[in-house]
Amino acid sequence: QLPQPPQLPHPDPGTGAAVKAADRAHVFHSWSAQELIDPLAVAGAEGSYFWDYDGRRYLDFTSGLVFTNIGYQHPKVVAAIQEQAGRMTTFAPAFAIEARSEAARLIAERTPGDLDKIFFTNAGADAVEHAVRMARLHTGRPKILSAYRSYHGGTQQAVNITGDPRRWASDSGSAGVVRFWAPFLYRSRFYAETEEQECARALEHLETTIAFEGPDTIAAIILETIPGTAGIMVPPPGYLAGVREICDRHGIVFVLDEVMAGFGRTGTWFAADLFGVVPDLMTFAKGVNSGYVPLGGVAISERIAATFARRPYPGGLTYSGHPLACAAAVATINVMAEEGVVENAAGLGARVIGPGLRDLAARHPSVGEVRGVGMFWALDLVRNRETREPLVPYNASGEATAPMAAFAAAAKENGLWPFVNMNRTHVVPPCTLTEEEAKEGLAALDAALTVADGYT
Ligand code: PMP
Repeated sequence: QLPQPPQLPHPDPGTGAAVKAADRAHVFHSWSAQELIDPLAVAGAEGSYFWDYDGRRYLDFTSGLVFTNIGYQHPKVVAAIQEQAGRMTTFAPAFAIEARSEAARLIAERTPGDLDKIFFTNAGADAVEHAVRMARLHTGRPKILSAYRSYHGGTQQAVNITGDPRRWASDSGSAGVVRFWAPFLYRSRFYAETEEQECARALEHLETTIAFEGPDTIAAIILETIPGTAGIMVPPPGYLAGVREICDRHGIVFVLDEVMAGFGRTGTWFAADLFGVVPDLMTFAKGVNSGYVPLGGVAISERIAATFARRPYPGGLTYSGHPLACAAAVATINVMAEEGVVENAAGLGARVIGPGLRDLAARHPSVGEVRGVGMFWALDLVRNRETREPLVPYNASGEATAPMAAFAAAAKENGLWPFVNMNRTHVVPPCTLTEEEAKEGLAALDAALTVADGYT
């Protein structure tokens, strides 16, 4: 029997059913076959938990879509949004607004190197759109190089740059987009046996791709600092520094997409900090204000900002730097600093989550590999540890996904809401997670992995 959430003393299944019925009648959901989904009606959320109308509570190991880095309903951020709404709910972008100026200052102070100018967007995908456009305008070159096993957003250009199967249906032929293979030792097809070999082959492969595409035709290389949606593959030491060097040598703009990895997720303010690498452009969203109000942006280096010092930047958004979203960002960043949220993600990841997941891997044959850092982990689930055959086939749908569906159902029965993508579960709880919550989540994963073991 799960503990009852104190915020919901009287479960209300009737309202839950009505909410669900209206959703099913009128809401068109992302990435879904509309008649094959059954969304949970959620009544409330606080901290690391949310609950339904039947009084069932779940520990959220997904942080929504990896964005509630400070958990749900942080009182200081809620109060800041309310205060801003009372003062100035909205205003057009071409003005200096207190909340916007302060958010830009706080972000620029934390981004690495000289990424000191902030262009605000509504979310991650449009941040990627604008980063790519800035790179093309800055260099006067057409092509963008991006990695297979990547996710950069659901708008037209961002989805074309994306290197996972969600691109396929919307791919316009990706004029100007060329994809390459970034390092991923566990599933490398390049016969690398060590991280050093995988790093060397990945840099060599990138160099060769550039040579055959024509260096003078390439505006940007875009990478997620640690690819998230595609499997949380922490790059080997030296890879990102190597890409930085390649970009410098060929006059290519280096874009790091930190929409998912940024703002504390990796136990540092930005994942780039882990590798000591400074890109020319860095995209962010999600954790910037834990998604309390939609916000994203591009942090811009001095060199690229200079391109648009006397020449207009031909792009913009009605809600760029929306006051409510920026007030939420100011409050979120201040909470993260005051409450040591980044340090908590680093410490708990190193002391509890990482060792806990490795312990699960040692006991469950369905776990092929554990990888990650901070509050950013993946378990690569397999049918066979020797062959590394994934627990469900790549890009499987329908019946073929049954083992992962059974794993997820078991996790939920044990009070844990898991992140599932293909044959992986990602362990991406809020960066404010407590040690007690971490242990509760690991115990639920233990039970769910026993179900997954049944398919090995
Ligand atoms: N880039 C990365 C690395 C992401 O993880 C995501 C979202 N998962 C996006 C871009 C797109 O962000 P949004 O959904 O806010 O448009």
